[in-house]
Formats: sequence, C-alpha cells, structure tokens
Amino acid sequence: MTSLLEHPRGAEPGKPGDRSAFSFETITRLPDAADGKGRGGARYGRTGILHTPHGDIRTPAFVPVATQAAMKAVLPESMRQAGAQCLLSNAFHLFERPGEDVLDAAGGLAKFMNWDGPTFTDSGGFQVLSLGAGFKKTLAMDVTGMKSDDVIAKGKERLAFVDEDGVTFKSPLNGSMHRFSAEISMCIQHKIGADIMFAFDELTTLMNTRSYQEDSVERTFRWAKRCVAEHERLTAERLGKPYQALYGVVQGANYEDLRRHAAEQIASLDFDGVGIGGAIEKRIIGDTCAWICDAMPESRPRHVLGIAAVDDIFACVENGGDTFDCVAPARCGRNGAIFTRDGRYNVKRAEFKFDFGPLEEGCDCYTCTHYSRAYVDHLLRAREFDGFTLATIHNERFFIRLLDDIRASIDGGYFDEFKRETLERFYRNGSKG
Ligand SMILES: [Zn+2]
Repeated sequence: MTSLLEHPRGAEPGKPGDRSAFSFETITRLPDAADGKGRGGARYGRTGILHTPHGDIRTPAFVPVATQAAMKAVLPESMRQAGAQCLLSNAFHLFERPGEDVLDAAGGLAKFMNWDGPTFTDSGGFQVLSLGAGFKKTLAMDVTGMKSDDVIAKGKERLAFVDEDGVTFKSPLNGSMHRFSAEISMCIQHKIGADIMFAFDELTTLMNTRSYQEDSVERTFRWAKRCVAEHERLTAERLGKPYQALYGVVQGANYEDLRRHAAEQIASLDFDGVGIGGAIEKRIIGDTCAWICDAMPESRPRHVLGIAAVDDIFACVENGGDTFDCVAPARCGRNGAIFTRDGRYNVKRAEFKFDFGPLEEGCDCYTCTHYSRAYVDHLLRAREFDGFTLATIHNERFFIRLLDDIRASIDGGYFDEFKRETLERFYRNGSKG
C-alpha cells in the first residue's frame, strides 16, 4: 500500500488539488437533550469522519499542538503510538523559523516532520496579535472581577499594530519588523502545506470595548473574503499539490448578536469549515458553539481553537465541535502536572519520591506501562529531557483517549451518562483543568 505521506489523495502532477479529497461525513447525531432546556433541547453534537488528503480523522477528535513542527521532546512516531490522529502547527512560528520556503521544498509540513497523517496550521493571527498586548490569557477565560490589568501583562512592550490591511509586528525572535495580512497568511500557509488552514482573523480580548468588537468583526469579514480569493488563486496556481482546506474563523467575543452575525458572514463565504475562535467566557462556551452552528451548513466541519479544560471540551462537543486543539497537556506535563480521570495532580510532590506505581493506575500509555511516578518525578526535578517526554506522552494520551471515549459514548447512545460521570470524577477533588 502506498503511503499518504508520499502520495496524498487528490494530488496529480500538473493539476490543482482535487477539492473532493476533503469532506466531512456525519455518523451519529447527538439526540436532543431530555430536559428540553435552551434551544428546546436541540444539540449539534455529532460523530463523523473528516476526510483529508493525508488521511481520515474520526471526530470528535483531539488535535495535539506541534507548534514548531514538533511536539517538544516527543517524536511523531510516539504521538501515533499514543493514538494521535492529526497534529496542529503554528504558521507564525514556522514563518519565523525555518521559513515557509523550507517546508515547501520539503514537500509540506507532514513530510517535513515525518508525520504520516493529517495536519492543521493556524493563521498566525493569534500569535501576531498576542504580541499586541502580551496577553496573559485570552481563551475561555473567567473574567468575573477582572480588570484589563489582569489580562494585559504589565510592562510588556507593544509589538503589534492592526490597521485595515493587516498587522505590523516586531519579531520576538530577532526584533525585525514584519507584516501579516490575509494574502501573506494564505501564501505562508499554502507553502507550509497543511491539510487544514485557517483564515487570517483579528483576535480581540474580552477587555476590548463593544464598539471595537463590532469594528473587528467587520474587519475580520473583509479579511476572510480576501483569504478566500487568495486561497482560490494559490490553489489554481500551485499545481500537483494536494487540496488544502480553508476554515473561516468566527469572532465576536462574548456577544451573542455579534457571534451570530459573524457566523452568518463566514457561512456566506466558500469556506471548507469553520474555526470557533477568540476570547470566550467559560460560562457561555457551549452556547457560543451552538450560536455559530445555527448559521453553518451541517456539512462543514467545526474546529474549536485553543480549548482549555476538560469541562470545556464536553460543552463544545455537545454543542457541535468536531476537533479541538489544546497546548495544556504538553505545557502542563513539562511542569509535572499530570492529568488523570481523578483530576490533575503534580508528580513532583514529595509523597511520590518512593512511589513506583504508574502516573495513572490503569492508563494504557507507553509511560504508564513502562515507567514509575518516582522515575518521572526524578527526571523532571533533574530537568532531564526524558521527563518532558514521558509526562507529555501520558498527558497527550489522556486527552486523545478522552475524545475517543466521548466519540464512543455518542455512537453508543450514552453521552449524557458518560459526561456526568467523567466530570464528577475529574472535578471531585477540586481539580483544575
Ligand atoms: Zn499514562
């Protein structure tokens, strides 16, 4: 059998990528909620198969984040062994280093990092605009009692400036000035060559004023139209490459009317899917997904950008999310925070020094089947790279399996019970995440 890494679907010499190589197929729809609350109990949750030129993704699916075309300290082969179906990299970081031309010459992101499966890139908008204020935290935040000082890091130099055409920013890597726009982002993402890309959008925080949010949604729509046009031009021009799907991103912060308006705008354009992005207050994260799904054709897959916690994942799946990326498992793992079905704990606590059991009893990951808490604790304290490797493998496996289990619960007709039991158990001890 020929590998999709060497011969992606729908790529033929001398021809533009075949768009039919990308599609979404619904398998099971989540039945209406028994309590009939909210939208008469109607729910958008579903399982399905996302077909891409580099393979299929069973959804709902967790998308591990390989920021710089690498999972820090973990090889793609190990991610495959941990059950990962796809990976997401960062267009902004790859543009900075090694540069999109290197990935293009290598035959695209998947081939460059030896990942025989589907890949995503985000547009770079989030990273570029994060330079603007040095956000401490932007997604799914609890803003109760917060002031703008709590969100915008103190003393941080402003590195990005938005205008009608795009964003000018200073590289945090070498201080040089760069510019991102809809066309530049599309050109970079085409050269990086992921199966799924995102339109360039403006990210706002919940601290921006209502009138700024309104202007920003309109600006994002104008950028979205330019992204679609540039994407069509590049698809027609870059012959012999597999088709790359483009998702439009819905912004609008925590305003229902703005989210609905933005969703209608994005739905009116010829995108392959939708990204649910921007700052969302945790308490309305599920509602936000549902407002957006109200406007979207069912055939368009929905990606929730930068999800933060286990309860957020359930809320988003229930309300229509298909794929979810999250940096938390790797980032937390490197600090010793371990996710388990009974909540999160830190393996560097003194009590684990002589604990020769696994990170999580019953876990099927490579770490838990071969190594002990005492060893992982030792490696992390000694700042040995293997500690990052072992902790990351376990945490990524936790989220991959969580989404696999959620998918099985929707197909098997027991989602509500599974959700209740999982959340009760995970948060019983006041666990974060
Ligand atoms: Zn494990």
